[in-house]
Amino acid sequence: MRTLPARAETFPFDPAGLHAVLFAHYGPSHWWPGETPFEVMVGAVLTQNTAWRNVEKAIANLKASSLLSVEGIHGLSPEELARLIRPAGYYNVKAARLKNLVTLITRDFGASLERLFMLSDSDLRLALLGVNGIGRETADSICCYAANRLVFVVDAYTKRILSRHGVIGPGADYEEVRALFEGSLPRNLGVYKDLHAHLVYVGKDYCRAKRVRCGDCPLGGPGCLPIPAGDGSLRPQAGAPGSPE
Ligand code: SF4
Repeated sequence: MRTLPARAETFPFDPAGLHAVLFAHYGPSHWWPGETPFEVMVGAVLTQNTAWRNVEKAIANLKASSLLSVEGIHGLSPEELARLIRPAGYYNVKAARLKNLVTLITRDFGASLERLFMLSDSDLRLALLGVNGIGRETADSICCYAANRLVFVVDAYTKRILSRHGVIGPGADYEEVRALFEGSLPRNLGVYKDLHAHLVYVGKDYCRAKRVRCGDCPLGGPGCLPIPAGDGSLRPQAGAPGSPE
């Protein structure tokens, strides 16, 4: 049986060790939730700045109307789409982003996800980043979870955790952090998918903006010396009871 590294040994930064510790704690993540690659893409656009339960309501509305497809969304007016995805918040902005995304797929790839996904990793990423309103986190979520590419998704939770352990500075660039993971992780899609999901869990469960729970965190331990984020917001409280952010 494989011996897992002690919790504190994941820092200095060891992405593979980080995965081992978090997988032992959380198990398989089964991310990203979605029945089809297109549903994953829609979820990746809708999830920005909102809780996942709100995304689920918006997707349920699209499904109930039999409009969760490239053709379905392409045929809707922005106003009709905004009404359906209203539970996800920022619905006018997100409707425009979804329309931009399906316009790309329809115009350049014959409305076929299969054709879009024939692009190389770098070309797929570039195509997605060329869509107005699709940023790097969303593009990489689509690459990793919808198109099954070895692209590591970086988000605010990941940056916060690494920043608090002194691996990166608070203003670290997205690509710099992505390269940190991709340069060290085994080239295994399951590892990429689970590790991003697990870092989100750590960010929500323990490494919160306030009331940090290092004492309970799988990345904590006797050697855990989280470094202040520089904005005065971090006051680690070992073993302190957590509360929702
Ligand atoms: S809660 Fe503490 S131990 Fe866990 S990741 Fe954040 S700083 Fe590290």
